Amino acid sequence: MAEMTDTMLFESLTSARRRLADALAAAGRAPDAAQLLAVSKTKPAGMIREAWQLGQREFGENYVQEALEKQAELADLADIVWHFIGPLQGNKTRAVAEHFDWVHSVDREKIARRLNDQRPEELGPLEVCLQVNISDEESKSGIAVDELHDLAQAVLAMPRLRLRGLMAIPAPAATLAEQRAPLARLRQALEALQERFPEAPLDTLSMGMSDDLEAAVHEGATLVRLGTAIFGARNNSPR
Ligand SMILES: *Cc1c(COP(=O)(O)O)cnc(C)c1O
Repeated sequence: MAEMTDTMLFESLTSARRRLADALAAAGRAPDAAQLLAVSKTKPAGMIREAWQLGQREFGENYVQEALEKQAELADLADIVWHFIGPLQGNKTRAVAEHFDWVHSVDREKIARRLNDQRPEELGPLEVCLQVNISDEESKSGIAVDELHDLAQAVLAMPRLRLRGLMAIPAPAATLAEQRAPLARLRQALEALQERFPEAPLDTLSMGMSDDLEAAVHEGATLVRLGTAIFGARNNSPR
């Protein structure tokens, strides 16, 4: 598939920024209440560099090996912030602990413990979101809402991890109201944790993708994860 030109990326990033700004204004929220996370899976390092040159700093990747290769090519971009948002297996935790700033997909204590043990001291704590199975689908990853409290408590006791909030990938829904229901449940789950753990830095709701950004911003998203809307349709060969 032909990649986007620089001009196309400028236009799509500008319109994604405008879409986020409009959604925040419509929800009566501050212009800086949510940030754009550019999901660059399957896209080449050159496109990430272009987006960086246009001021984008936060990037999300799903596949460890693919991400490491791009990170090596982009090592000169000192202030880039890497978020791991894909399913995380035990044999990949070391690479993630050593090469990412954030992980959004922690859904088991065992994975959290490995990340904590493997996080290099000099990098400072790894920022963590717990992935919640908010649509109750058997096939999707994520922890059930009623098990969140115990996992949060365990992660909060891990010194090399900093628990920042919750992430979800709701099932696709047709209407705005249907989109908002699971996103509201994620917001309520975060509010419950904030109440239980008032000392914790729980300020992050990682939700909202290209198809449900407006619904997510209405429900309090602080980090929206946009792939297609910024970089165009995904390339065919994810690793
Ligand atoms: C791919 C992906 C996205 C981006 O999805 P789009 O619909 O392309 O915006 C967001 N979050 C996660 C976890 C993803 O895997």
